[in-house]
Amino acid sequence: MAVVGGGPAGLAAAVTAARAGARTVVLERGQHPRYKTCGGGLIGISRGAAADLISVPSRQSVDAATFTLYGGREFTRRHAEPLLQMVVRDEFDDALRKAALDAGVTVREQALVRSVDTSGGGSGDTASARLVDGEVVTARVLIGADGSGGVTAKRVGAKFAQVDVGLEVELPVADPPEWAGRILIDWGRLPGSYGWVFPKGDRLTVGVIGDRASGPALKAYLAEFVTRLGLDGLEPLHDSGHLTRCRADDSPLGAGRILLAGDAAGLLEPWTREGISFALRSGILAGRAALTVDPVTAYTAAVSEGLAAEMAAGRQLLDVFRKRPALFHRALRTPIGWRAFASMCQGRLTFDRALRHAPARAALRLFT
Ligand SMILES: Cc1cc2nc3c(=O)[nH]c(=O)nc-3n(C[C@H](O)[C@H](O)[C@H](O)COP(=O)(O)OP(=O)(O)OC[C@H]3O[C@@H](n4cnc5c(N)ncnc54)[C@H](O)[C@@H]3O)c2cc1C
Repeated sequence: MAVVGGGPAGLAAAVTAARAGARTVVLERGQHPRYKTCGGGLIGISRGAAADLISVPSRQSVDAATFTLYGGREFTRRHAEPLLQMVVRDEFDDALRKAALDAGVTVREQALVRSVDTSGGGSGDTASARLVDGEVVTARVLIGADGSGGVTAKRVGAKFAQVDVGLEVELPVADPPEWAGRILIDWGRLPGSYGWVFPKGDRLTVGVIGDRASGPALKAYLAEFVTRLGLDGLEPLHDSGHLTRCRADDSPLGAGRILLAGDAAGLLEPWTREGISFALRSGILAGRAALTVDPVTAYTAAVSEGLAAEMAAGRQLLDVFRKRPALFHRALRTPIGWRAFASMCQGRLTFDRALRHAPARAALRLFT
């Protein structure tokens, strides 16, 4: 098996397939540990999926959250047990790379894939990746896990229903006591946008995300957010942006002998744009499906059964959030709203399960 991309999706797929006995190679254009624009917030589902692969290199455990609406109406809630773990992606992804090596995977770094192809979907068929130097790597199954905007999604013909841009600065603030174990979430004025402060020990990750069409306004939102927090004037360790794409319902998850996982497939939660849990889980599902007689059918069924329902619920929430961010802010102030938020962070509740409750469905219908 060949995997294009050595992020959480690709490495989870590789470990899964290799542990099941498949000879597996990962082709990664960068070199770990490498920087990746990401908040690095791990919800319980991510931690659960990662636990089968690595010991999570957590920088900070979070048990409190401060919420603001357009910078005002601030309140803080604390939970008796940890809600989130904060990781630095250089360290998290490198731990996955080491797990892949331990499982017997060949991890080829600085291996930039220019294009991929597939001969068909039959058991005798193959898929191939052409590297920038012309070398061709052929495999029984190829997993495309090259992130948002990669070459594998184009070859498969993935369709995206939502494109957002996330902007982040990593600010060097060593163990600030006011951020110990606490995150901040600010619901933004731009429709569907929000900002965050995630503490990582030696740094704070401050970011905003919203519709790609709001580009320049999002940049202004981040600048204003940093200033409001009194963090302007610090030279960022990193200052970067990245697109996130959510798949359309009918977007293919594979073609011939190619499967798409993680961001490459557009698998991420539409409201929060949380993607690590989707990358790990879809990577594991793709790694398993790669060993079956008909990988695309097996993988499509597995994703539809689990991840698709969570994404559909996230889309419904985003629709309401775009129009009524104040409603979400008020809901989180209530004991029931905070309990639901905490359960989701801890992985005990998913959006689709939350929306199965009649009162939640009725509330959503009222505001859609
Ligand atoms: C600003 C921002 C903040 C975020 N914060 C969070 C968060 O706090 N929590 C969360 O759960 N999610 C978050 N996400 C989403 C999360 O980062 C992604 O969903 C996740 O990284 C997807 O993992 P992946 O393995 O699919 O792709 P990636 O992590 O993008 O990995 C893809 C890999 O493929 C490699 N690659 C690309 N092209 C090629 C090529 N042609 N040849 C070889 N290799 C290639 C890349 O170098 C990379 O290593 C955030 C996203 C953004 C933009």
